[in-house]
Amino acid sequence: MDGTADQDGSTQERYDVVVVGGGVAGLSAATFTGRNDLTTLVLDAGDSILRRNAHLENFPGFPAGVNPRRLLGLLGEQADTAGCTRRTAHVTDAERDDDGFTVRTNGDAYAADYVVAATKGETGYLDAVDGVSLVERGKTYVDVDERGRTGVPGLYAAGRLAGKPHQAVVCAGHGAEVGATILEDDDRPFYHDWVTPDGYFTDRGRDLPPGCEELDAAERERREAHSRETMRERFADPHPDAQETHPSLRDD
Ligand SMILES: Cc1cc2nc3c(=O)[nH]c(=O)nc-3n(C[C@H](O)[C@H](O)[C@H](O)COP(=O)(O)OP(=O)(O)OC[C@H]3O[C@@H](n4cnc5c(N)ncnc54)[C@H](O)[C@@H]3O)c2cc1C
Repeated sequence: MDGTADQDGSTQERYDVVVVGGGVAGLSAATFTGRNDLTTLVLDAGDSILRRNAHLENFPGFPAGVNPRRLLGLLGEQADTAGCTRRTAHVTDAERDDDGFTVRTNGDAYAADYVVAATKGETGYLDAVDGVSLVERGKTYVDVDERGRTGVPGLYAAGRLAGKPHQAVVCAGHGAEVGATILEDDDRPFYHDWVTPDGYFTDRGRDLPPGCEELDAAERERREAHSRETMRERFADPHPDAQETHPSLRDD
């Protein structure tokens, strides 16, 4: 992140990527761009629809299911580990000019080269971006190509907003695909985001591909111990947040 002078002389934070929406799709996209050294900001209103799920039983890797709010917390932590910045904020509008995008919230503005829209059903903040094509199919979706690109250079849509099927793993996977697409479109040296055993490439006479890491046994064991400790701690107690439901069913 660095600073860019705004028209009124104030300084905007500048990021390579601003992700609007920190549900499963947005957090997954951010994890990929952040891990590969694109400065990445996630702006999230804090209202992922996954919070309404009662027990998530079809997300791979959790044979007995997982509390959906716990999963969102873990995805957020993973984005943090990848070096992303996360803020709770409602994005009000975005615009594009020759320098890239300006993304505004109530009170702040951010500059970005790439924007990922991952806001499920909300598109109003894109109204001022020329060239965004919306699709009405009962709900409103953003029209994208097979890799999540909209018609606007640098603007991508991910997850349910991009018309993907309404399952968390599908939307998370699409977010990851959009993140990898940005890395490819940015032309940065990037090879699959793989972590491999010591010598996997180099003992075969290959250079270590950009973005890859080889771990020796001690480092592999250290990371496994850290991951076991982390998961033991995160799952030690029931998640503290209350079950959420459809707004029309709330008592308040
Ligand atoms: C009751 C219920 C049960 C479900 N059960 C399952 C299930 O068992 N299994 C399953 O796979 N899926 C389930 N789902 C579906 C799953 O939750 C969604 O498919 C998935 O969350 C979509 O991911 P997403 O990232 O596209 O959207 P979301 O997870 O909804 O994330 C969108 C994010 O964008 C943010 N946002 C919106 N507008 C703005 C803005 N202007 N500025 C900033 N942030 C903004 C929101 O706050 C939200 O955090 C269920 C859904 C519901 C409602």
